[in-house]
Amino acid sequence: MDINSIARPEIVAMKPYVSARNSAAADGILLNANEAPFPHVDDAEWRRLALNRYPSPQPALLTSRMAELYGVPESNVLVTRGSDEGIDLLTRVFCRPGRDAIVECTPCFGMYRIAATIQGAKVIDVPRQAGQGFHIDFDELERVINEQADVRLVFLTTPNNPTGNLVQRADLERVLRACEDKALVVLDEAYIEFCTADSASKLVNEWPQLVVLRTLSKAWAAAGVRCGTVIADPAVIALLQRVIAPYPLASTAVDAALQATSGDAVSRQRKFVEAVSQSRSHLQEFLLKCDWIEAFWQSEANFILLKVPDADELVDWCAGRGIRIRNFSSQPQLEGCVRLTIGSNDELVALKSALQAFGDREQA
Ligand SMILES: *Cc1c(COP(=O)(O)O)cnc(C)c1O
Repeated sequence: MDINSIARPEIVAMKPYVSARNSAAADGILLNANEAPFPHVDDAEWRRLALNRYPSPQPALLTSRMAELYGVPESNVLVTRGSDEGIDLLTRVFCRPGRDAIVECTPCFGMYRIAATIQGAKVIDVPRQAGQGFHIDFDELERVINEQADVRLVFLTTPNNPTGNLVQRADLERVLRACEDKALVVLDEAYIEFCTADSASKLVNEWPQLVVLRTLSKAWAAAGVRCGTVIADPAVIALLQRVIAPYPLASTAVDAALQATSGDAVSRQRKFVEAVSQSRSHLQEFLLKCDWIEAFWQSEANFILLKVPDADELVDWCAGRGIRIRNFSSQPQLEGCVRLTIGSNDELVALKSALQAFGDREQA
């Protein structure tokens, strides 16, 4: 599959910007980037991180760490400011404004549509059905990919946000086959660490049309660091490199991302994921006992979506106790739905007590 043939021709033709750090080594006497020779802030952290200097566009330590973490060669990796930036770059590289389309399966993460709209790309929705556990209608999805001429990106999310369910490997492969020579399948695995299913990261060298998005924001407990990784065929990575900002990763963020993933980080992450899984089961048992809750969906991630008689009222009730939960009520198929993130044990106690009191009040 020729990746360049489905990218925007002007991106393929463009002569990319070459930054100082990309065109010369970063040692010796550095007089090529109009930087200050030393920081004005007299602080050990500033000196340690050389904050007077531009950072490396893709720091070798970080790209090799992410490659190791996700089990792929470094040539498959681009580190970004969160997965949000990965979504934005893919849309800008592959969608011609006013012409090309992305496909999403709502309810899903809202940023796919936002990125497409900003780019002027069309959004084709293949809605999931609440009654069928929010599973994707893959027959319909395949039909759309086959029949619509200018589909460039198909966004799949596993586990899906906000519904919590998975895309099975056989279904993914079916979509990949349908997209051959035509479009990329962007598999957003923001929550993959929370479930027992394998990541598809390692499949990118078998399927050049596959792009996998990973992030440190969820299971790695580092949302404030803004560190995501696009895993894809080197041809896709090379195109994204043409569009990404010259110095996307702040030196402080690079340092924090390395900290978040070094030493015993893997075992800390596993412990956290295990604790979330236990709390999730615990909360599900509790929810089963709340007869005023109309439904909740089995989740493979660190949240649970539930349906209640009056979502606005519940959200306000919880807010009155200082607990913020997310209202999805205004979205198609999610009437009455709220999403609860699995927090700490103490937070879970507070949440259960708020839900209990809300239910008791309904009955009174
Ligand atoms: C949270 C989330 C992201 C965003 O991740 P960042 O790396 O923090 O930008 C991407 N996709 C989904 C489905 C998410 O829920």
